[in-house]
Amino acid sequence: MSTTVDKDALKEKYAEERAKRLRPDGNDQYLRLTGQLAHYLDDPYTPVAEREPVTDHVTVAFIGGGFAGLVTGARLKEAGVTDVRIVEKGGDFGGTWYWNRYPGAQCDTASFVYMPLLEETGHMPSEKYAHAPEILEHCQRIGRHFDLYDDALFHTEVTDLEWDEARTRWIVRTNRGDAFTASFLAMGTGPLHVPKLPGIPGIEDFAGHSFHTSRWDYEYTGGDPSGAPLDGLADKRVAIIGTGATSVQCVPHLARACEELYVFQRTPSSVDVRANRPTDPEWFKEMATPGWQQRWLENFTANQTGGLATEDLVMDGWTDLSTRIRSRIAALPPEEQTLEGMLAAYEDSDFEKMEEIRARVDSIVTDPETAQGLKAWYRQLCKRPCFHDEYLDAFNEPGTHLVDTDGQGVERITERGVVVAGREYEVDCIIYASGFEVGTEYTRRAGYDPAGVDGVRLSEHWAKGMRTMHGIHVHGFPNLFIVQPTQGANLISNVPHNLTESARTIATIVAHALGEGAGRVEVTAEAEEAWLDLLRSGPGRSLSSPDCTPGYYNNEGRPADSDHALFVGHPEGAVAFFALIDRWRTDGHFTGLAIT
Ligand code: NDP
Repeated sequence: MSTTVDKDALKEKYAEERAKRLRPDGNDQYLRLTGQLAHYLDDPYTPVAEREPVTDHVTVAFIGGGFAGLVTGARLKEAGVTDVRIVEKGGDFGGTWYWNRYPGAQCDTASFVYMPLLEETGHMPSEKYAHAPEILEHCQRIGRHFDLYDDALFHTEVTDLEWDEARTRWIVRTNRGDAFTASFLAMGTGPLHVPKLPGIPGIEDFAGHSFHTSRWDYEYTGGDPSGAPLDGLADKRVAIIGTGATSVQCVPHLARACEELYVFQRTPSSVDVRANRPTDPEWFKEMATPGWQQRWLENFTANQTGGLATEDLVMDGWTDLSTRIRSRIAALPPEEQTLEGMLAAYEDSDFEKMEEIRARVDSIVTDPETAQGLKAWYRQLCKRPCFHDEYLDAFNEPGTHLVDTDGQGVERITERGVVVAGREYEVDCIIYASGFEVGTEYTRRAGYDPAGVDGVRLSEHWAKGMRTMHGIHVHGFPNLFIVQPTQGANLISNVPHNLTESARTIATIVAHALGEGAGRVEVTAEAEEAWLDLLRSGPGRSLSSPDCTPGYYNNEGRPADSDHALFVGHPEGAVAFFALIDRWRTDGHFTGLAIT
């Protein structure tokens, strides 16, 4: 690595910056959007339509109409299950892509692996990193293609789930008065669907306009999700609070539009090169031979997680990140190929990359103080890495101001604006790019707490932490499947790959049970415990180390307690998990499940 990097000085700087951000209140620093704040959750996109409550029976009910519900619904339909009812709190399919319509929203992982079921639906992503409207449209395409609209219930939130042992079915109750039953139930409510606001004193006092990025108010800002100018902001002073992946994508649009834009920063994001480009249809036609998307998915995951791959088909920011680390390790002389040697090589490559990212800031941002403020002082994977080609340039706009809070966060909100270090910034509008609940209990985020066998609640079964087999099955909760990455592959760089694999697994189990005339599927207590033992045998870390700068990746900088200790994936990684689950669901034994 370059001799100009002083590793000890950097480590000291990282530790210093981290220390500034540690707070005793951890996850409790954020507000729940209830009571006076509940209006922040209102759907600005689709009016709620009146309808009669539903009281029938379906074979499968799925909670959540995002990628998880869509891919599971699709695989179930392919497996011959005709009645699949998706229950969704938004006004259409899309999940995160229904809600997040902020200007500039686009996927951060290459579309060819991020957008599910491309081959099945015959869609060619128009760009390497597709923008949000195209992804939302794709969700609707999946819904139509697999005939999922007819049975769907939109603008509907599940309030209660109860297992009926006598009739071997789930009773589903909702906030629209529905009380229907389902032979099987699956939940894919997503890890990041409950917006959160920072617990800043005075937040309720602000007299101007305000909204959360996941409920973008185009009526106020003008423009649209396709990038039309936000002309309603031409005479407005706007504050945006937060500089995570969302803010990085929408700040360039705000900077172009607002009279004055104040970007309130607590921790800078690392912002690497994006290099988006339109898809060449000729190239796509040649490349997209049968089975192409599965090949790409496997290739991405192998490259990204250190599996065996001789080429990098996807070549996005994520595969680049791991290729760099791997080649650094491969270049070690044989005597240094020890665990210690490899960790040191990884650290060297990280220092080098972060120096590059910091140098990029200097090369783009003209004001030296602003440039200094925008530099991230932590290892790249400590926080969600960002990739953007216009974010840093936005700070060269004369009306755009970085207000760096030196790790402390906004001090106070008043009737007129935002206070940092004793100075009040008067604004007309505050946009909260403050993210989503992550570290809270699953049942709190879901909004219901399923009652399984003998009325035992999921929160009780998980009182000491999440317990599943494969991240899907829970003992005491028959005919229930969870669709999410944790305790499975835990592939965070491309969440949809986790979901499509779970969808296959669930469709195979349901089709098998129906084919056998079996009415009850439950993981045994022993199989659940054995799976947890396997997970415990791994390094047992959350997404990033507690030594990292605090954030939702590392439980706000607190060591994992029992609730988080098993917030992990298969100890040998995603490739090993996907291979295991493929064998498991195709050998016909469904080991660990009691199917009766
Ligand atoms: P984040 O949780 O990543 O960011 C929230 C921001 O708010 C952080 O910068 C945080 O600072 C800041 N903040 C919180 N409290 C305060 C405070 N009191 N004062 C000032 N600032 C504060 O939310 P995002 O919506 O940006 O992203 C959430 C996740 O969604 C991403 O990590 C990513 O996984 C996903 N995402 C994916 C995208 C994609 O794939 N295309 C695009 C956008 C999001 P601090 O860092 O110090 O906590």
